[in-house]
Amino acid sequence: MSAFDQETDVCIAGAGPAGMILGLLLAAQGTRVLVLERHSNFDREYRGEVLMPRFIQMMNQIGLLTFLLQSPHLKIDGFQLYIRRRLAATISAPNLSKEAPYILWMPQTVMLEALHEKSKAYPNFTLLFDAAAEEPLTEGTRVVGLQAAVKGKPVRVGAKVSVGAEGRGSVLRRRGGFELAYEEHDFDIIWFTIPKPAGYDNTVRAFLSARHNYIILPKYPQHVQCGILIETGEYGRYVKAGIGSLKAELLDAHPMFRDFASELTDFKPFNVLAAKADRVKEWAKDGLLLVGDAAHTCSPAGAIGVSVAVASAIVAADIITDCLRKQNYSRQALGRVQALRESEVIEIQRIQSGFSGLIAAKHPLMKTVLAAGVFLLAKTGIFRKLQRKLMVMDRPLPISPTIRL
Ligand SMILES: Cc1cc2nc3c(=O)[nH]c(=O)nc-3n(C[C@H](O)[C@H](O)[C@H](O)COP(=O)(O)OP(=O)(O)OC[C@H]3O[C@@H](n4cnc5c(N)ncnc54)[C@H](O)[C@@H]3O)c2cc1C
Repeated sequence: MSAFDQETDVCIAGAGPAGMILGLLLAAQGTRVLVLERHSNFDREYRGEVLMPRFIQMMNQIGLLTFLLQSPHLKIDGFQLYIRRRLAATISAPNLSKEAPYILWMPQTVMLEALHEKSKAYPNFTLLFDAAAEEPLTEGTRVVGLQAAVKGKPVRVGAKVSVGAEGRGSVLRRRGGFELAYEEHDFDIIWFTIPKPAGYDNTVRAFLSARHNYIILPKYPQHVQCGILIETGEYGRYVKAGIGSLKAELLDAHPMFRDFASELTDFKPFNVLAAKADRVKEWAKDGLLLVGDAAHTCSPAGAIGVSVAVASAIVAADIITDCLRKQNYSRQALGRVQALRESEVIEIQRIQSGFSGLIAAKHPLMKTVLAAGVFLLAKTGIFRKLQRKLMVMDRPLPISPTIRL
């Protein structure tokens, strides 16, 4: 009798963008894939909705772009940076990348549902909702599957390769004994949505101001999404002080927030993102690999979290396919994903950390000094170069041409 309730080739914990795209690419190679998703559906908001040219480039590379563009989306023309309400820099999406001349806005729910639809073409792909991975199952030091709770019942899944793609709160990262090589938490963002004012165009706008910095981005179909950058833990102080405190802040911040702010009675419309970044020291153990945010969480600077998470998942599809072919599921074999991806992740996290330092200054005097610095930087080619580095892939992902849908 098998020690497992269910067996598969690859068991992926987490049906976010990384887990779903990895699962689909493996299924297209004929691999048996089981994806476990803790939630009962894909409903989520304020999650990875702005998708930079690098995401478009990689979707093109794996043959998914045309399919994804059949789902509701917006094409964002570019980005403007205002310092104290004065336009300091404009980045036009077509100038960032000729190959991907726009920024995509697509709700993550829409994208994940589309990917789920696509997966139905593969009988060797199974997605279970209400299925939470709990810990790796081991034989000696080798991971041989995952212990999960499926609709509340314990299930032991046997797998040649197990993958933690459960995002920044990854339980397999914790329970699998992975250590962090890097961790940073400079600020938080309070998100909320308001109706789009008449005539508002499809441009992302960021404002550095004397008190808080904020960002306004178009949201499909007739809204704009607004984010206020606050100090780590400051939201708790607003909650303690009552809604009047945040209301006053918003009334003062931008004329577009006034109608929304004056009608506020509680904190329900708000969603707080902790702008954390981290990276695991070693992404693989024998039989177990971390991908996406579970291996490396990016800060919100540049809105590239999904792109970076998915890039590692795509590379993982190639490496895992090779591991299955060679029946080698060792830490070294699976660790090739890290070898191929880590240098770019480190470079991106370094640039993001620099931007975070500029936008998360706490002292008003420091804010003024940094705003002046950003203004000058924005006038130079360095700013554009750094933006390009964040938002655009300078070369295709290093994968076999067969890793395609
Ligand atoms: C508020 C917010 C706004 C963001 N905005 C942007 C943006 O505009 N652009 C951008 O590029 N990035 C953005 N990001 C970052 C982006 O959402 C992530 O980088 C990206 O979603 C990571 O993908 P992932 O698949 O690795 O993990 P996730 O998207 O976090 O997916 C993990 C999945 O695993 C599931 N899960 C968790 N635990 C378990 C478990 N134990 N068992 C089974 N399943 C489990 C979760 O329910 C989830 O479905 C944002 C992040 C946040 C929090």
